[in-house]
Amino acid sequence: MRRGSFHDRAVVVRTHDFGEADRVVVLLTRHHGVVRSVAKGVRKAKSRFGSRLQPFVHLDVQLYPGRKLATITQADTVAYYGSGIIEDWDRYTAASVVVEAAERLAMHGEEDPALFDAVINALSAMQTTRHPTATLDAFLLRALELAGLAPRLFECASCQAAGPHRAFHPEAGGAVCVRCRPSQSASVPAETLHLMWLLAGEHWAAAEQILDGPDGPHLMDTAHRLTVRHLQWHLDAKVGSLRVLEQR
Ligand SMILES: [Zn+2]
Repeated sequence: MRRGSFHDRAVVVRTHDFGEADRVVVLLTRHHGVVRSVAKGVRKAKSRFGSRLQPFVHLDVQLYPGRKLATITQADTVAYYGSGIIEDWDRYTAASVVVEAAERLAMHGEEDPALFDAVINALSAMQTTRHPTATLDAFLLRALELAGLAPRLFECASCQAAGPHRAFHPEAGGAVCVRCRPSQSASVPAETLHLMWLLAGEHWAAAEQILDGPDGPHLMDTAHRLTVRHLQWHLDAKVGSLRVLEQR
């Protein structure tokens, strides 16, 4: 092993061609956060590991640090999750959002094994799920929890009054009671927050009972919209605060 090089587990976030034969590969790693790297010569026919550097592959990589881009010197497949995903549009789009959301929640260069493991679990579950959006939301709620940003789904986020409540507000922290709800809160059926609570806790049998019921698709749509709104609000808040820090 070359001095300074390091090993890690990784999934590919995205790639683009670079120069004549190279490829830039953005990796989400288990111990080094998001790593921008280059795989040299992988677009030539004889490349040893170029074909492994694709979405939905769990990789064991060896990287050599560089000033702007690390260099991938070796990549081995730990597991391939693409089958069941790449030929199914709903699973494919949901799995892509899993990886993108993880990239945005990950800290650059910081280890976050729990987030990485949650990505691997979500990709594995996505291969066979009958409910890709529910599988995606279960991941997003888990990732939010790991980041300390989980929405309250039963108690009121402001006064802790026991639910179920029928309003949701990302900035307030999730479910809010009639007395605490800010005027711009979304009104939601209590069943939606119940479904999100089941997904967040990975109570799959109970969640599937709701999802397979007559109101399942409608409740899932609403739950997904709330989950994404909550994530988006907190990501924007995070990115905003980073920008403020950079200006100092
Ligand atoms: Zn309240």
